[in-house]
Amino acid sequence: MTADSDLWLPLAATPPRRWRVSFGSVAAAGRLFRRAYGEMTDLVLPPACPVCRARLGSAGGLCADCWQGVRFLERPWCERLGTPLPIDLGPGILSAAAVADPPAFARARSAVSYEGPVPDLVHAFKYADRTDLAPMLGAWMARAAHELVADADMLVPVPLHWGRLAHRRFNQAALLAQQVGRLTGVPVATRLLLRTRRTPQQVGLGRDERARNMRGAFVVPASKTAALAGRRPILIDDVLTTGATLEAATRALLDAGAAAVDVLTLARVVAPS
Ligand SMILES: [Zn+2]
Repeated sequence: MTADSDLWLPLAATPPRRWRVSFGSVAAAGRLFRRAYGEMTDLVLPPACPVCRARLGSAGGLCADCWQGVRFLERPWCERLGTPLPIDLGPGILSAAAVADPPAFARARSAVSYEGPVPDLVHAFKYADRTDLAPMLGAWMARAAHELVADADMLVPVPLHWGRLAHRRFNQAALLAQQVGRLTGVPVATRLLLRTRRTPQQVGLGRDERARNMRGAFVVPASKTAALAGRRPILIDDVLTTGATLEAATRALLDAGAAAVDVLTLARVVAPS
């Protein structure tokens, strides 16, 4: 009974002395309840595709039709921005955009293009409590990150402002970073980068407006700069749109002493070629 408190049922026929409830038994009861509740909600709400709501055999994935619509980003791509290139001109090739307007980050990589079922998938993950998708999405990202991982010291999720965090209850970037960290072995640093102010929603803003909106939105606390000095973090976020958020976060890390910053997102907006 003491060997595995997980299996011990607190409502057994011979309970411990009255009022003497150990923390172990309370925790075990909580786990049992959550397990039973999870099975119950599976019966009431069978697992569904987060995009088209087709029924699935198990939670945490996509149906076959939606899966076919996901466009994974592959080489040839711009070594700097990670955007697909129409033809393969060999290693180290940069896109015109990367040459004309080089970003502060060294390299960006994204798992999938933000098109087809992906916008609905991201929406379900962020706003519809489909955190069960995190392992699948994290695996996609870890696959896209293999070049970056070799040089990385830590994963830094882009933080949410605390007001938004309270509203949404979790930071989707931190959840993705945890999954990538689990698969790659790179440690996750969640308190290294802070959001100094609540920025207005970026939806509907142009590139310059987004950059202005985000300037100075992040800071590394003085107590954390020693942990960052000379290191190479990977910033983690869900979607790269214009890159304004990741640009501002990169500048904060570089200002605090990071040697270089790479960027990894689940999805990115890819201009039609
Ligand atoms: Zn579907």
